[in-house]
Amino acid sequence: MLNTYKYLCKKNTRFIIKNKKQNNMDNCIFCKIIKGEIPCEKIYEDEYTLAFLDIMPVNEGHTLVIPKKHSEQLILNHDGDLHHVMDTIRKVVPIILKAVKADGWNLGVNNGKAAGQAVFHTHFHLIQRFANDGLKHWPHKNSTPEERTKLAEKIQQVLK
Ligand code: AMP
Ligand code: ZN
Repeated sequence: MLNTYKYLCKKNTRFIIKNKKQNNMDNCIFCKIIKGEIPCEKIYEDEYTLAFLDIMPVNEGHTLVIPKKHSEQLILNHDGDLHHVMDTIRKVVPIILKAVKADGWNLGVNNGKAAGQAVFHTHFHLIQRFANDGLKHWPHKNSTPEERTKLAEKIQQVLK
């Protein structure tokens, strides 16, 4: 069991390194999982989405939910069809929480390399949380009211 896990991790790391720029369906590891070309521990599947266990979990129960339609990241290539992903998240979360007896959960999406994205097929991390699990939230910075007003104006300018 441990050996299989190690083998998959190694194979997988090699695949990710080899395909650093995974920007199409042919070299996308998650598309390969959807097609059954790479194994996964499936939690749930329907016409539009797939939920499976993360191979390197942050905590027990860490699950990835992906749209079957390939897109590099959340804001690309989806014309209002992401609600299927949300439906799946709402379906599987209570089940996973119960199974691993978690106290809470985080929903995370990394978009772009700078944000920590390693696999370039849109995916939602469902990370189960346990009281005193030692995980830290990202650190916050202070901001002044003036800075916030200036920034909001800057964003509004782009909106126009
Ligand atoms: P991200 O940094 O948001 O792109 O996260 C990618 C996630 O995919 C990481 O948490 C990996 O552990 C996970 N992952 C990569 N390959 C696989 C795989 N073959 N099966 C399951 N999870 C994977
Ligand atoms: Zn893909």
